[in-house]
Amino acid sequence: MADSTRFKALEQMQTRPSAEFTPCERQISEYFGIDVFGKEQMREYLSKDAFASVMEAIEGGKRIDRKIADQVAAGMKMWAISRGATHYTHWFQPLNESTAEKHDAFLEPLPGGKSFESFSGNVLSQQEPDASSFPSGGLRNTFEARGYSAWDPSSPTFVIDKTLCIPSIFVAYTGEALDFKAPLLRAMAAVDKAAVEVCKLFDKDIDRVVTNLGWEQEYFLVDEALFNSRADLQQTGRTLMGHPAAKDQQLEDHYWGAIPGRVENFMKEFEEQAYKLGIPLKTRHNEVAPNQFECATVYEEANVAADHNILLMSIMNKVAPKHHLKVIFHEKPFQGINGSGKHCNWSLATNTGINLHSPGRNPKGNMLFLTFFVCTLMAAEKYGSLLMASIASATNSHRLGGNEAPPSVLSVFCGSTMTAMMDAIEKSAARTFTPDSKTAIKLDIGKIPEIMLDNTDRNRTSPFAFTGNRFEFRATGSSANCSMPIIVIDTAMAEQLDLFRTEVEKLVAKGMKKDEAILKTIRKFVIASKPIRFDGNGYSEQWLSEAYKRGLKDINCVTEAFKEYLDEKNVALFEKYKVMNRSEITARFEIKEETYLKKIQIESKVLVDMAMNHIIPTAIKYQNILIENIRGIKEFFPDKLQEYAGKEMETLSRIAELSNIINDTAGRVTVIRHEINRIPDIPERAGQYEARIVPIMAELRASIDELELIVDDSLWPLTKYRELLASL
Ligand code: ADP
Ligand code: MG
Repeated sequence: MADSTRFKALEQMQTRPSAEFTPCERQISEYFGIDVFGKEQMREYLSKDAFASVMEAIEGGKRIDRKIADQVAAGMKMWAISRGATHYTHWFQPLNESTAEKHDAFLEPLPGGKSFESFSGNVLSQQEPDASSFPSGGLRNTFEARGYSAWDPSSPTFVIDKTLCIPSIFVAYTGEALDFKAPLLRAMAAVDKAAVEVCKLFDKDIDRVVTNLGWEQEYFLVDEALFNSRADLQQTGRTLMGHPAAKDQQLEDHYWGAIPGRVENFMKEFEEQAYKLGIPLKTRHNEVAPNQFECATVYEEANVAADHNILLMSIMNKVAPKHHLKVIFHEKPFQGINGSGKHCNWSLATNTGINLHSPGRNPKGNMLFLTFFVCTLMAAEKYGSLLMASIASATNSHRLGGNEAPPSVLSVFCGSTMTAMMDAIEKSAARTFTPDSKTAIKLDIGKIPEIMLDNTDRNRTSPFAFTGNRFEFRATGSSANCSMPIIVIDTAMAEQLDLFRTEVEKLVAKGMKKDEAILKTIRKFVIASKPIRFDGNGYSEQWLSEAYKRGLKDINCVTEAFKEYLDEKNVALFEKYKVMNRSEITARFEIKEETYLKKIQIESKVLVDMAMNHIIPTAIKYQNILIENIRGIKEFFPDKLQEYAGKEMETLSRIAELSNIINDTAGRVTVIRHEINRIPDIPERAGQYEARIVPIMAELRASIDELELIVDDSLWPLTKYRELLASL
């Protein structure tokens, strides 16, 4: 049996010499950002004018004119060549959760055999990739395949693998966004505008508000040979079958344990590359599940943070094979143990250095903080289901609602300090503020401790938790582009901030003092957003029924959740803030449904193939061995058959039953799949895949997993969980 793929893979893993990596001797600060065309590099390579113009584009979103673009391109080219670049590419994020790049050489041959390196402002600013095969959800017909990528100066260019990468947006020739970055930039601009106007109620010096994002990336590592021994991992990123190992995460001995040497080498290598690219990685540790790990950066402006996240994921994918490892970003590669998320820590900050989600130093600062705090609650209350829909996917669906990741209903955890504060505000004078109640609130507000980081209880069951100086959105899946939830949060926040300001202005126009008007509006928002606040256990049954009573939606059904995009309230929000227009939203909805459908279709095909080609033949082999043995017993001990072979006959009959069930269920999957494939409407087809195929796949799996427990281990063709998850 030792020649089966499984045993060959195990042998390969055990006998292969481990890959070594010698980290750079220098301090990280000496080479941090060395491959990035950052501020320092720009100052060195650009003229004063060009530098100023790029800075204005970064900070004020101003367009760079063509002449200056030529100068920037010339400086950028010189720098890139000094870093070894031979090619350049517009690097963008199409709607398929990866990045796209098409490399062009700087080389420009001249007649007569000579050549030179060329790179113009035009080429830097805009390209027209023949990119007809990216998902476009009907925004762009293939016959008019024109999509444009355009340079986003707010995210710095960088050199990787001898290629100058220019972070870009990707739009159809009609200007409609075909990517994540364009709407993210628009959402950040919308919240900037709305937030600045609110800030001006407090402080006239504030004229810019940025969105900050700090992500935490979870992932699994599996030995490459073992990974390749499983068709399901290779083709779908997760195991479609496999009985849980007797010991997995029960003892919680993996969490924050010592990082295995081989993994540490891998981490050091990708970290070194990340540091050179200016990705501010800060933490690394073991996660709860066996072979699950996490890394996190220091927060940055959301647009740059999102680029850095996706860049790091691709670096990790490239570095892992050098260590004979495979990185798994799938949200739920293994049934029965924790899945992986990508926590998105979000906050807003001003150009004057104030974190608007952090309590201030004095009552005035705290009023500003409270304003942003209650607007966030309102945004979550009003657009909670849209936020959950923004992270719904075939892969994340296994994680959400399970007993480990956030539940599938959105609620906000505020912590005891803020809850007490909200309650006090709510209870204060019902209609108008008496001078006494005003002072009381002001005093209370003054009492919010400046740093609550240490006393916000860490509630891990809440999908959206206030953690002292930021909100942490935990429902994002590990494989997702983190732009999507930030687009929703920022846009929803922009609207609430506008409503807040209008309300205050109305009261002031009626003659109310500004402070009082602000307090009154805060109170109004506190009361209106109350249903979204929940500090208890988000996994409990009671909470779910309570949530339904509060009218909060459950996004358990993925293909239904996507329909949130088309909800008129949500379309109106995106259109009002010019983040996405109706056809851009519809395109995203269609792409989501289609991607879901395709993923489940692939999974069901792989599962049926494995059941028929690997599992059934194995069952038959083992059945024959048992039959031979039973026959032998009957021959030698005709009177003792029941006594000596009774158990074996039971096993034999259970295997026969299971084989039958597996055969039959696999057949049903195929028949139903064919039936569903005839449905012309894609969302409906996707819905049928979810409602009918997903449950039978689970049934099929259960029978296979039971069979795994009773078939001779040496015959079992698939690498088992205990092997895949054995310490690296
Ligand atoms: P934990 O596991 O306790 O949530 P981590 O240290 O792993 O904490 O991650 C915290 C993340 O939150 C980091 O990316 C950090 O930079 C980020 N963060 C901290 N403060 C802010 C803030 N004000 N805005 C956005 N992100 C923040
Ligand atoms: Mg966290």
